[in-house]
Amino acid sequence: MQKRLRIGWFSFTCCEDSTMVWIELMNRDFFKWKEQIEIRHARVLKKDNKLSNIDVAFVEGAITTDSDAKKLITIRKNSKKLVAIGACAITGMPAAQRNTFNEELKNEIEFLIKRFNQASRVRNVKEVVKVDDEVPGCPMDEKLFLNMLEKYLVEFGVVNVPDAH
Ligand code: SF4
Repeated sequence: MQKRLRIGWFSFTCCEDSTMVWIELMNRDFFKWKEQIEIRHARVLKKDNKLSNIDVAFVEGAITTDSDAKKLITIRKNSKKLVAIGACAITGMPAAQRNTFNEELKNEIEFLIKRFNQASRVRNVKEVVKVDDEVPGCPMDEKLFLNMLEKYLVEFGVVNVPDAH
């Protein structure tokens, strides 16, 4: 059986538009990816998910709670490579907007921070774990994502030569 790249797709706090871009790309590339990729974990696509033995984890969104930070650390421990997807994961913004609030606004939202067990500050992905690569954009740049995927398909020995996009 052909070797496949074992990937995970994870979304933290955000609008999940990069996830939509990825799913839209499947309209074109699904049958090619079916031969090349094993989706180990992607809650947007399936219920039976495995958080182990992942070659590349794609992580979208900002980290707003301590429990999400712990989940992200677990993802990192179970993935050989981790790629931050989109501006929220890379810089925190725009999901981290509350970090920029003045004291008055911060006081106004304090009850929500407590009610939803939010951390005092929103963090981007690399403030919590080591990030190997980034796909910028808001949502992610489609071409840069495809290039990144091809790079890892080659690096993990699934294909010899990357597809041109
Ligand atoms: S980077 Fe933009 S598109 Fe992606 S989750 Fe954040 S706000 Fe949404």
